[in-house]
This record gives sequence, structure tokens and C-alpha cells, in this order.
Amino acid sequence: MTEIAHFINNARVASTSGRNQPVFNPATGEEANTVALASTAEVDAAVAAAKAAWPAWSKTPALRRARILDKFKNILWDRAEDLARAISAEHGKTHDDALGEVTRGIEVVEFAVGAPSFLKGEFSENVGTNVDSFNIRQALGVVAGITPFNFPAMVPLWMFPVALVTGNTFVLKPSERDPSASLLLAEWLKEAGLPDGVFNVVQGDKVAVDALLEHPDVKAISFVGSTPIAQYIHQTGTANGKRVQALGGAKNHMVIMPDADLDMAANALMGAAFGSAGERCMAISVAVPVTDAVADALIEKLTPMIESLKVGPSTDKDSDMGPIVTAQSLERIHGFLDGAEAEGAKIVVDGREFKQDKQGYENGFYIGGSLVDNVEPDMRLWKEEIFGPVLSVVRRNTYDDAVALIDQCEYANGTAIFTRDGDTARAFSQDIEVGMVGVNVPIPVPMAFHSFGGWKASIFGDHHMHGMEGVRFYTRIKTTTQRWPTGQRTDPEFTMPTLG
Ligand code: NAD
Repeated sequence: MTEIAHFINNARVASTSGRNQPVFNPATGEEANTVALASTAEVDAAVAAAKAAWPAWSKTPALRRARILDKFKNILWDRAEDLARAISAEHGKTHDDALGEVTRGIEVVEFAVGAPSFLKGEFSENVGTNVDSFNIRQALGVVAGITPFNFPAMVPLWMFPVALVTGNTFVLKPSERDPSASLLLAEWLKEAGLPDGVFNVVQGDKVAVDALLEHPDVKAISFVGSTPIAQYIHQTGTANGKRVQALGGAKNHMVIMPDADLDMAANALMGAAFGSAGERCMAISVAVPVTDAVADALIEKLTPMIESLKVGPSTDKDSDMGPIVTAQSLERIHGFLDGAEAEGAKIVVDGREFKQDKQGYENGFYIGGSLVDNVEPDMRLWKEEIFGPVLSVVRRNTYDDAVALIDQCEYANGTAIFTRDGDTARAFSQDIEVGMVGVNVPIPVPMAFHSFGGWKASIFGDHHMHGMEGVRFYTRIKTTTQRWPTGQRTDPEFTMPTLG
């Protein structure tokens, strides 16, 4: 068993904190490794390395920074399988799902490589007689990323390619539940030619997070995780004068209209609710069929599909769904199902009945898919994010009632509508109070050159991640107004300067 530790100044660094915690293989339930939990002094060392690297890195031409990221991108394509295996071993998701995560992460690197183009400034000639004005975007300095367990490669990749290519240096604090992917990313950045100290990793828990939030040399924090922690990060970070983007939890609804292609909707729901065992912030966890007839037909289609889901280890090619990340998360999901019937809901398919009998995997953190009908907004099942393979059905009789349900939810990350009617689809995407909308697309995760982010309690702060929103977050604008002496006489002016 090894202790997974830090990466500072382009080298793996053993921990000196004396604190660590187990990292499990969720497929077997075994403790596979331990992860170091950094002390404040270790975080200080990472920030100091990033601070020392910043002057030279921020002055390196964007084209050269982009070329390093281009090499990193090629390494990622070449070793995508290795990264996917490292993700699955600690997270539990299937190998193909992990490969999908890696691909979505690489797309952000592809976007970042375009920095020389998107960092072009704006220039206005002759804003006054012989006076020109121009804007440039400059890096902030040392920035930090704090990331969740559910995408141990993709979510860090939402952040650091854009931060680095725009001239910042970076300290990453990954999830302590699946820390290994972060070290592979750090080593491959080094191999691509990233100078010492530009990208650093500290493993850890609240101690490390608080050290980053309080450090005067950290200029901005990007966070992705659950809503209570996102809110805490935003409040504490902004109180300490930092720029903060903090993406939180989710509860994503899919409306199925009476004119929808029901087979298409059922297939879409299967992937969106049960892919990655429901541990995705864009997972659909609530189906909202409009009319009882649609609800009954949909449940009839979904039931056998959910009952035949193949639940197994990531190494098994046949698995549709892997285990849950930890025993505690599994227990929490059980808790929602244990309370469902007392609240008045009806469990149609009960994932608690699933038993993993594959030899060697009996103690893994498995649960089958669940379908729960007659869920209503006063139930815990609807109010809270479950983050597991549980699909709730909230029946509604009209489109307006379906929209009202979604707008009543505190979370507003993603949503989808399945319909054949363009008018309804357009009204939905225009009016719904949610950050990312799908029309006959169940998981509308924006591409890297657009930006990712929800509304309401799914985000704290103003900027979404990656795309031009990411560029705006990691840079600040400077505007220069210049006049070159022409030999003409100028007199002192005491009124507010006006040009033109
Ligand atoms: P989490 O909030 O428990 O942890 C996220 C990060 O915060 C980790 O690095 C963790 O070490 C740190 N952290 C945890 N408790 C802390 C505390 N008390 N003080 C300071 N730092 C703390 O989230 P998770 O369980 O790893 O991930 C799942 C959650 O992330 C879900 O709520 C999911 O919806 C959300 N998520 C959101 C998005 C999005 O884009 N909105 C994307 C992925 C995941």
C-alpha cells in the first residue's frame, strides 16, 4: 500500500503532515492505498512554488504556452487508457465511461491551445486626435482548483488548461476519494515541458482547502462540489478578497411531453439516470411525464430495462454501471430508499435487492438501479440531491405544471425536454430557470468552446467554467490609452479629460 501525496515544483513530494486516510477500490471494497492530507505548511510550499514560477510563466508568449499544452494534449490521447484505468480503480465507473470523461477533458485542452487567438485584444484607433486605446487580458497570478470525486480528471481539466494558457500558475486540491489521476496529469504536464512550479498538486481535506482560501498569494479559486461546500468556498474566498467560481450540486429534471418519441425518451433516461451510477452532476434524477398516460407507458418501458442493468466492476466489459464510490455514499443512497415508502412514494424497481455474487467482488459498494413513482416536492427524495442510481418520477398533468415544478427546485444545473413540438421546445429553453438545457438531449453538457455552469444553488459566483467564460475568470482586463508626442504644444487642462 502506498501513500498518494503531493506534486510540487515538478516532483512528487512525500507528505510530512502525519495525516492520511484510506483510498478504497469500490469494486472490491478493499482499502487499496492511503492519501496524504496536507498540512497548512505543505499548502504554503505549493503556493510558494507557484508564486515563484508566475513572473516568467506569465511573460512567456501565449503561443509557447499553447504549444506546451498541445504536447500535453497529445500525451493525453496516447495514454487515455492508462488515465481511464486509474480513474476507474478509485472511482468505480466503467472503463468506457472513464474514457468518455478523459475525452471531454481533452476537449478543454484543445480549446486552450487556441489561446493566441482568443487572447487577442481590442484596439481603437484615434479615440481622440492622435490618441489610441487598447484592451489586453492579463493573468491573475496563483490560482487554485478544488475538485470533486465524480470526475477526477475532467473537472480539473475544466480549470487548469485555461488557467495555465492564459498565464496563471496553478495549485490543484483534488478529491481525497480518488486522488491518483491528479498525479498522472501533473507528470504528463511536466513531460510536455511545463516549467517547475507552474502546476502543483496538494492532496488533502478541509485543512488544505482552508489554507488555500486564506492564503494571501492565491488570487482566485475555482471549485466544483456539493452546494453547502460551494457556498462556504464562495463566502470565505470572497471575504478574503479572492475571485471565486463555485459550482454546486444538482437535481436535474427531464420533461416527457405526450408527443415525445417514448422509446427515445426511455433510452435517454437509462443513460442519463444510471450512467456512472447516477454520480454525475448532470445526471437526470427526476422524470416528469406530462399526463398519467405518458407516465404509465414510460414506467412500463423503463421497468424491464432497469431490472436488466448489468452492475459490476469497471474491469468487466459488460458492466453498464459500476459500484458507488464509498460505503458511506452507498449507505446514504439506501437511506433515501428506506424512507421513500413512508413518505408516500412507490418503489417500482428496488436497487437494494441487488447482490453482487461475482467472485472477489462480493464486498464492493454495489447497488442496482431504482425507479420510484409518485414522488412529490414535499419528499426528501425530491428535495435533496441523491447522487446515486435512483430515478424519481413526478407526474404532472400539464406543461405549465412541469415547468413550475422545475422552477420550484433550489438547484438549477441542467434540465431537458423531450417533445416533437418546436414551439414547446423553444418556450422551454427560453423560459426555464436553469443554466443548461437539452431538447431531446438528456445530458446537455456544453462543449469545451462553450461554457459549463448552472444557475441558482448550483453556482456561487458569476463565471461559468471553460470556454470564454473560463478565459474571463482567469484574466483581468487592462485598458491603455496612449498619445505619442507630435511636437504640438499642449496646455494644462483642469476639466474632466474628454477626447474627440
Ligand atoms: P464535496 O463537496 O464533498 O467535495 C468537493 C471538494 O470539497 C473536495 O475536494 C473535498 O475535499 C472538499 N471538501 C469537502 N468537505 C469540505 C469542507 N467541509 N470544507 C472544505 N472543503 C471540503 O463533493 P463530492 O462528494 O466530492 O462531489 C459530489 C458533488 O459535487 C455533488 O453534489 C455534485 O452535484 C457536485 N458536482 C457538481 C458539478 C457541477 O458542475 N455543478 C460537477 C461535478 C460534481
